[in-house]
Amino acid sequence: VVSKAVKNPATRIAEPEDGPVHHCGVAGAWSPVSANLPRSLFFMLFSLQHRGQESAGLAWTDPASGAIEHEKGLGMVRETLGSFLERDVPARAAIGHVRYSTAGGSGLRNAQPRVVECNKGRIALAHNGNISNSDALRAELAADGAIFQSSSDTELILHLMTRSRKSDPSEVVREAFSRLEGSYSVVMLWNDELWAIRDPDGFRPLYLATDGGLRLAASETCALLFDGPRPYREIAPGEAWSIGPSGERSFALGGRERSGARCAFELIYFARPDSEVFGRSVHEARTALGAALAEDDGVPGDVVVPVPDSGNIAAMGYARRSGIPFDFGLCRNHYAGRSFIMPDPAKRELAVRMKLMPVRSVVSGKRVVLVDDSLVRGTTSKIIVRLLREAGAREVHLRLSSPEIHEPCYYGIDIPTREELISNRMSPAEIAAEVGADSVRFLPLARLDECLGGKGGHCKACFDGRYPATRGEGN
Ligand code: SF4
Repeated sequence: VVSKAVKNPATRIAEPEDGPVHHCGVAGAWSPVSANLPRSLFFMLFSLQHRGQESAGLAWTDPASGAIEHEKGLGMVRETLGSFLERDVPARAAIGHVRYSTAGGSGLRNAQPRVVECNKGRIALAHNGNISNSDALRAELAADGAIFQSSSDTELILHLMTRSRKSDPSEVVREAFSRLEGSYSVVMLWNDELWAIRDPDGFRPLYLATDGGLRLAASETCALLFDGPRPYREIAPGEAWSIGPSGERSFALGGRERSGARCAFELIYFARPDSEVFGRSVHEARTALGAALAEDDGVPGDVVVPVPDSGNIAAMGYARRSGIPFDFGLCRNHYAGRSFIMPDPAKRELAVRMKLMPVRSVVSGKRVVLVDDSLVRGTTSKIIVRLLREAGAREVHLRLSSPEIHEPCYYGIDIPTREELISNRMSPAEIAAEVGADSVRFLPLARLDECLGGKGGHCKACFDGRYPATRGEGN
């Protein structure tokens, strides 16, 4: 049974989350000798917790039996996989996943990694992204007798692999993955091999570290460096890499010519600032976004205040370029987590107050330049502006380090419908009136690529509507 609610565009989550939301992070490890890889995976997933907080899972190949074991559960990494800190679980290969749950998805049923025994052997697979032609593929496979146990794209990939008539693993992967459109950064255990595969457009990041015989793969470099520095490289868009007892290999999936479609929001908001994604330091990219936002702005301000934590670095870049002092005028309660997401708009303000409180000594009597990463519905910004005014701010000028969002995402990020996006209903001046700010300004779209830098092109479809790959049904 396919839940339409969780398919194209990218899966929706609980309504009150007022911002783009990421879905998943993946990690994998391979060692030439048995080691406690599940414990290493615990730390790697802990480093990727920001990419998904609703479920976490691990799978590893038992070196004695060759079986793939797995554990997964709903909740944060510490809650679901904390027992691995105390256990000694030998393995030569392991993968893991953190996931953001969905409105239509049924929690544990869609948790990853997904583990199967099939005509191709034992496989465990974890996926970050959104297969945008999944409805068509699912219908085709169902017509051919396939039975689905979840609504996740991960199961779809496994079905495609089992249907391949090839025997060489590289050919099986090439054939199965050539059917996929959209975004995927995949880690996979296939018997005693570790695989890492990235879609040809390169929507989601995927990195590989080499440390003697040890190999680590992960969505972001922060997970590769969890216990110290080691050399790493990006898995290239369209690259399939694997390692196992018979050696290491890498090949191109092939297919149509691509110009690169790395998700701009990975650098703007999702990735951890100490990570490198798409060959670019996240911290540097956000600093550049803030600096570009300050250029030609000329707004009279006394203090630059970030919306923590996502606005911190862009605000610093803005302050440096504008010469206006930076200060923390909003205090974030780091213990609030997602526990105060409330569907009732009347209670929403209290939820925001539980997370963010103004620092009166910083903002009172000041002209505040308030810097955030993006504006989606505008509901949270309206509350924050009110909090700052309550604390005595004389003026509040809202600045966004991304361009105006006009379109939904089909490649793994949850963005509300066009109708809900405030930039589709109002001009910046009208938004200012709506949220109670003195002015609102967005990063000009023309400045985005130069700020994001790195190698290859970026997907900017949610800003300009130019989708680099299939969008899903009817496209
Ligand atoms: S549409 Fe936007 S959020 Fe989706 S992949 Fe492209 S840049 Fe990222």
